[in-house]
Amino acid sequence: MRSARVAQVRQLTPRRRRVVLRTDTPEDVRTGPYADTDAYVRLLLAPGSVTYPEPFDLDHVKATLPGESWPRMRSYTIRHKNPRTAEITLDFALHDRGGPATGWVRRVRPGDTVFYLQPRGTYRPVAGAAHHLLVGDDTSLSAVAAAAEHLPQGVGATVLLEVDSAHEEQLIDAPERADIIWLHRGAHRAGTLLTDAVRHLHLPTAGLHAFVHGEAHAVREIRGHLLHDRGVPRDRISASGYWRHTPHP
Ligand SMILES: Cc1cc2nc3c(=O)[nH]c(=O)nc-3n(C[C@H](O)[C@H](O)[C@H](O)COP(=O)(O)OP(=O)(O)OC[C@H]3O[C@@H](n4cnc5c(N)ncnc54)[C@H](O)[C@@H]3O)c2cc1C
Repeated sequence: MRSARVAQVRQLTPRRRRVVLRTDTPEDVRTGPYADTDAYVRLLLAPGSVTYPEPFDLDHVKATLPGESWPRMRSYTIRHKNPRTAEITLDFALHDRGGPATGWVRRVRPGDTVFYLQPRGTYRPVAGAAHHLLVGDDTSLSAVAAAAEHLPQGVGATVLLEVDSAHEEQLIDAPERADIIWLHRGAHRAGTLLTDAVRHLHLPTAGLHAFVHGEAHAVREIRGHLLHDRGVPRDRISASGYWRHTPHP
């Protein structure tokens, strides 16, 4: 388990909050999975109004409190890292359904402590691809933006991002050959604009590498389309659901 102190909290856009953490494990920031563009941490967050005795000890919490009070694990991508200051930046999409992560990021203040599990990552755009397709939503915006900013020089890329509205767009420092397309969700169901847009894209199939992460149903559909309709080999597609849309009760 790792710990970090909150160094900065900033409202980036109407539906996005940025938190900069100064980690107590600076060696992590220099090495390991932080090199992957989709590197993420798993935050341990108290559900509802639960508080834990200090110093925080996960084993003690599990031994003494009922399961419903144990910390919940929520994954957040590292948007930036600074090995000099041992800081990592996480961007939180603010959604209306609430949950431990959304609750935490609305209340968090500089100086607060947060606990998390060792970072993980699995992807970085490879140099040998003929074209990169990067697809995401508000939750995978950090991973898609980081991938776009680390595209090998001279390779074409199509970047598709679905966000709530034009206010949620952000500057992505991608090479000139990357075509960045923003889709504004408005009243559409999450992910539907993305699936439609991917189906209508003109893409080279030979040498295509794809990174598709976001709402689980949309990711499954896009992955299936790339595999079965476009013949993209399985090992050239990185795809996973970052969250799942559930109908309002
Ligand atoms: C590897 C990985 C990296 C991720 N990186 C990021 C990141 O950098 N930034 C980020 O914002 N998210 C990221 N996510 C997604 C984030 O972990 C989830 O959205 C998480 O469920 C939010 O937790 P919560 O406690 O707010 O809500 P939960 O308690 O998990 O869910 C409560 C309710 O909210 C709904 N819900 C959850 N997320 C959303 C959403 N985005 N929009 C609408 N409804 C939602 C759920 O369906 C549920 O009904 C990542 C996920 C993974 C797996």
